[in-house]
Amino acid sequence: MSAEQNATKVKETEVLIIGGVAAGTKACAKAKRQKPELDITLVTEDTHISYAGCGLAYYIGNLIDDASKLMVRTPETFEEDTGVSVLTRNRVTALDLEARLATVLDLKHKETYQIHYDKLVIATGASPIMPPLPGINLDGVSPLRTLMDAMKVRQALDEGKIKKAVVIGGGYIGVEVAENLVHRGVETVLVELMPHVLPNFDDDVAMMAQREMEDQGVKVFCNTKAEAILGNDKGHSTGVKTTAGEFEADLVIVAVGVRPNVQLAKEAGLELGPTGAIKVNDRMETSSPGVFAAGDCAESTHILTGKSFWAPLGSVANKQGRTVGINLAGGDDRQPGVLGSMIVKVFDFNCGRTGLSVEQAAEIGLEAVSVTVPTHDIAHYYPGAHDIIIRLTAERATGRLLGAYVIGQGVVDKTLDTIITAITFGATTEQLAKLDLAYAPPYSMSISSPLVAANVMQRKLEGGIDGITAHELERKLQAQDDFVLVDVRDELSYMVRSIPGSVCIPLEEFEERLDEIPADKDIVVSCNIGYRSTKACVLLRSKHIGTSVKSLDGGINAWPYETE
Ligand SMILES: Cc1cc2nc3c(=O)[nH]c(=O)nc-3n(C[C@H](O)[C@H](O)[C@H](O)COP(=O)(O)OP(=O)(O)OC[C@H]3O[C@@H](n4cnc5c(N)ncnc54)[C@H](O)[C@@H]3O)c2cc1C
Repeated sequence: MSAEQNATKVKETEVLIIGGVAAGTKACAKAKRQKPELDITLVTEDTHISYAGCGLAYYIGNLIDDASKLMVRTPETFEEDTGVSVLTRNRVTALDLEARLATVLDLKHKETYQIHYDKLVIATGASPIMPPLPGINLDGVSPLRTLMDAMKVRQALDEGKIKKAVVIGGGYIGVEVAENLVHRGVETVLVELMPHVLPNFDDDVAMMAQREMEDQGVKVFCNTKAEAILGNDKGHSTGVKTTAGEFEADLVIVAVGVRPNVQLAKEAGLELGPTGAIKVNDRMETSSPGVFAAGDCAESTHILTGKSFWAPLGSVANKQGRTVGINLAGGDDRQPGVLGSMIVKVFDFNCGRTGLSVEQAAEIGLEAVSVTVPTHDIAHYYPGAHDIIIRLTAERATGRLLGAYVIGQGVVDKTLDTIITAITFGATTEQLAKLDLAYAPPYSMSISSPLVAANVMQRKLEGGIDGITAHELERKLQAQDDFVLVDVRDELSYMVRSIPGSVCIPLEEFEERLDEIPADKDIVVSCNIGYRSTKACVLLRSKHIGTSVKSLDGGINAWPYETE
């Protein structure tokens, strides 16, 4: 006998929403605001609804002292405020899209019943991937996805049970968790399978974040695979066996990624997209009329590539939920797509990204160039000014902006968001360089940092000197390519810190000492930030010295690898 036949009670509702964290509650609240008479039932298997998942790492770090501060609303206040019916600890186990029936298991009373709806919203989110490692089910091994996960970890920390921890996975959640464990005085090891943390950042950019983590006390092991969780006879984790050795751990946080919760949708016959998440149109409608999907279980479209893109982020989930809410109430709201924008705090370092890198642009047939520009967040003389580094990417032929990384100790989000806005509206480098941005020393530089980066890009696009990124140069050095690396800073700066294998010819002496540079080799020139090296490159080119001449983008200020 099927679950549906088994079910006895049938509840009626106009709109059924499955999932109650970001997308589900946003859709619900917006629909009710637009059309208060809508009869909505929200069903979630979770105990909590409407909480700030994005704050969970800071709660375990005690930066947020009380879990209640993460709960935007409780089921009770949500019901009171919006007039919807909220059913927590209820799991939808099957959907009959034709009959508009959902089969629901009440987890508290172990009863199955059905809900008949007119319209359906699937906001089932995503689940953490738990790799099938030996020992993965031991006590003390946990993902960090729900408020419950965070509360358990927080309690163990508060009780002083955690002295050593291993974080498996160096994506943004693993990085946030590692930082917060260090804040709690926990000896923390992070292992990452890829060559660097923050896998969706360029290698050299991510390396700077990694250096910050190491400087702040996290032991980071990249190119390292977790092979097993070790445990004691009480069934509690004691460590992690990895390809880099064994590490002791009272707590193991598994943060190797998430996958969309699409089982229900798939079994009901809804179409999935190429990313594996639920396929939707720009109104967030699925392949079945009257059925919407939003949040981590649904796809987006990438604004620049036009392709399906999965962006499991709270920022996206809330916007998609809002669109669903408007459309449930009879509106016609549409999502324009995403750029893959994200930002993460790594101790005293901030890392943000958006759009396409040079390599990603090449994948869709666009020839792109990038510049790496060390600059400041506010006027350099004003107290509290910090360095930031901008890597800007643009299409070579048109100057259209395609992407950016903005990183550093300073404020990066303002610069990043300015660039995101420009990319969204299809701006060129030249248009960005001319923006009339607000300025006073405590807030910005007189030519604001995104404009500085745009000007550097302009010079490059106008036939200036080719750049080489720190990562590309590091690869050349590793491969022992036959080329010459010339550092044009003064002797003292060179002696303090220099890239292995470089020779120093200060810019002031450069013209007189040109005969020291072989004319028949590839030449890379470096300086502090890329300004003096560009000048040296112009000179080399005018004298036809070097089979190719490149300036190190961002100079030694943006060099995260070993120095002498
Ligand atoms: C530690 C951490 C930090 C984060 N930081 C950021 C950040 O800084 N910025 C950012 O943009 N995003 C961040 N995120 C991501 C963000 O939290 C998610 O994108 C967001 O929660 C997605 O919301 P959602 O409603 O789509 O799905 P979810 O939050 O996954 O909620 C889905 C709900 O549906 C329920 N459900 C699933 N299946 C069923 C079913 N069959 N029946 C009933 N209920 C069901 C689930 O139990 C769950 O409660 C972070 C996430 C974590 C875990």
